[in-house]
Amino acid sequence: MKKVLIIGAGGVGNVVAHKCAMVPEVFGEITLASRTVAKCEAIAADVKARTGRDIATAAVDADNVAETAELIRKTGATLLINVALPYQDLSLMDACLEAGCDYLDTANYEPKDVAKFEYSWQWAYQQRFLDAGRSALLGSGFDPGVTNVFTAWALKHHFDEIHTLDIIDVNGGDHGHAFATNFNPEINIREVTAECRHWEDGEFVETAPMSKHQAFTCPEEVGTYEIYRMYHEELESLVKHIPSIKRAQFWMSFSPNYLKHLEVLQNVGMTRIDEVEYQGQKIIPLQFLKAVLPNPGDLGERTKGRTCIGNVITGIKDGQPKAVYVYNICDHEKCFEEVGSQAISYTTGVPAMIGAKQMLEGAWRKDGVWNMEQHDPDPFMADLNEHGLPWTCIELTPEQAASFAVA
Ligand code: NDP
Repeated sequence: MKKVLIIGAGGVGNVVAHKCAMVPEVFGEITLASRTVAKCEAIAADVKARTGRDIATAAVDADNVAETAELIRKTGATLLINVALPYQDLSLMDACLEAGCDYLDTANYEPKDVAKFEYSWQWAYQQRFLDAGRSALLGSGFDPGVTNVFTAWALKHHFDEIHTLDIIDVNGGDHGHAFATNFNPEINIREVTAECRHWEDGEFVETAPMSKHQAFTCPEEVGTYEIYRMYHEELESLVKHIPSIKRAQFWMSFSPNYLKHLEVLQNVGMTRIDEVEYQGQKIIPLQFLKAVLPNPGDLGERTKGRTCIGNVITGIKDGQPKAVYVYNICDHEKCFEEVGSQAISYTTGVPAMIGAKQMLEGAWRKDGVWNMEQHDPDPFMADLNEHGLPWTCIELTPEQAASFAVA
């Protein structure tokens, strides 16, 4: 019987707990742990009500390696699913090595004091995971995660060589708040205010945040949205592992309202991540802002509309130019009905469960530290269709690919 330990009881942790509970033949025993055990208990009660399964709960500080290693040993988990925050990635990898456990996460490590998105810290664990005979899977959410798998699958089945990659993340949902983020506000705002980087002819090119944007029309009447080019971590691993890629860009939709609020918050200093002195106390403005913004985990009940996330990929097949668009559309209200979360948490939590399933079943369990595109995409793609994130691949003419207007 396979035992897993899920760390983090936020919006994504809620989805992972529910989805793992729905696959009892793979996830035999589940423990959900977070700093605040009451959050885990509330999720466990909902899992019981919806699926009839009992999951154990525990309190843990994931920054504390010894404490987490002790919990891993106590639960007997062979896989730790990290859906806490990117700050905890390294301490949780350390705890896994100490206690002899495999590791999975959905976001790359970030130091708290500088918004820096790169895999170098985690890739540096390669030898230690190899020596310990343990496996780590990095970035098993949607983006990164499914977008990496879409790319690997397209390379396997549609191309001899991929030349351009445009990952387009549209959230057509509306939660009715003046301003809220769909996942952890601190992490989200650090990401969208960072310098933009995209890959072009063998190097990353830096441009000002949000400086390039255009309209994008999603399929299946999801709508037309303004998408903004920004840096996203999967670009780094994808261009490393698929070196034929000449240009890679990441785009995300933002409403004018979101951008207006963000600009004001930035201008008044509320998105700063350095300490400021306030009434004799040191506070970090962005952390204070998080405390006053709506909790992303509570948005599910009021969010309507759909997300549409996918990759436009061009390249060569049998000497001929070829283009495809692989995408998933996900309905916020349906997610809420199924697991009590909106689609952003859902589209992250389901791939985390599927990545964990691949590791526990053995298809994706290799010693060392791996990004998603380094594994065989086929079983993962099949599971997306099975477990709530069905995808579609359409072939585009080169002219149509150009009309996706992401050059
Ligand atoms: P939340 O802020 O809603 O939840 C984070 C959880 O982590 C909270 O329950 C919090 O616990 C817990 N936590 C934080 N610090 C610690 C700690 N030191 N020890 C133990 N638990 C801790 O975040 P989300 O659920 O929205 O996001 C979770 C992760 O998913 C993030 O890393 C995010 O970057 C990633 N993500 C990835 C996406 C993708 O597509 N790849 C998309 C969206 C998110 P408590 O409240 O008890 O203190």
